Amino acid sequence: MASQNRRDFLKTAAFIGASAASISSVSTKAETLDKLPESRMGVLVDTTVCIGCRNCEWACKEAHNLETDSLETYSNRSVLKGKRRPDEYALTVVNEYDNPKNPMLPTDVKVQCMHCDDPACASACIVGAFTKHENGTVTWDSSKCIGCRYCIIACPFQVPAFEYSKALEPNIMKCDFCFDRTKEGKLPACVEICPVEAIIYGKRKDLIEIAHDRIKRHPDKYIDHILGEYEVGGTSWLYLAGQDFTKLDFPVLGKAPAPGVTESIQHGIFAYFIPPIALYALLGGVMWLNKNKNKPEEVF
Ligand code: SF4
Ligand code: SF4
Ligand code: SF4
Repeated sequence: MASQNRRDFLKTAAFIGASAASISSVSTKAETLDKLPESRMGVLVDTTVCIGCRNCEWACKEAHNLETDSLETYSNRSVLKGKRRPDEYALTVVNEYDNPKNPMLPTDVKVQCMHCDDPACASACIVGAFTKHENGTVTWDSSKCIGCRYCIIACPFQVPAFEYSKALEPNIMKCDFCFDRTKEGKLPACVEICPVEAIIYGKRKDLIEIAHDRIKRHPDKYIDHILGEYEVGGTSWLYLAGQDFTKLDFPVLGKAPAPGVTESIQHGIFAYFIPPIALYALLGGVMWLNKNKNKPEEVF
């Protein structure tokens, strides 16, 4: 088995080496901020409104054909106590936190891909499997992915998950902003089902205005910070909160787009150690093998 894997590796490396020129000519960098249309869409998540019903978790699974129980089972609030991240089984999750302003009213926070304006996942992907669309969505293409999982490492919000449970053709799993639904003029499934409009869908620029207006009108209720307005160059999903975002497990991020970091690392490797084509061939071979494995250590 091991020798078969090595033969496969050499064949794959040769194939990818031959096609590396075309790969390296493909721009893997997503559209930059200044090219994105003003009219691009977003979602405003108001964590002071969310009641932690988890209907959004259920609707997301339904819309993406992910295994789920009945909606009634989602009223079990004990799940909220654990701090969960989106994973291969759930593209969005809701966590609950103490609310220092009102201990009787905890803060519930829905988490999913932020759909960054300058996505680090897209920048890190050496085969261009991610696309930043004009409407603000960041999607992932299974036909291009080689399973390297650089996107998982690069994401500043720790969002993309790998389908370790699938032995054959595992996918990168993350919120796709319900791209197929919004293309048809429908709302994202989570937005549509939310019973209290804690998540609202609209033009990003309008949502920012709404968020600033809420902060201005209720300075006692909100902190003066819209998460995602500027972080990592801006994101399509925006958050309002009544307490510091670090208390809600959001990372502290600067205004500079996260891709700058990954690109610097990649350029450093290319400049001083290995020519890009050789590196793509090597990485491509290893990753092609990895893609069909449950565990990385089982490759050789
Ligand atoms: S949150 Fe992570 S996965 Fe989503 S677009 Fe940004 S970098 Fe990519
Ligand atoms: S936008 Fe769609 S994919 Fe993303 S969390 Fe909502 S329902 Fe899930
Ligand atoms: S459906 Fe709305 S209120 Fe319920 S958990 Fe999700 S965001 Fe919060």
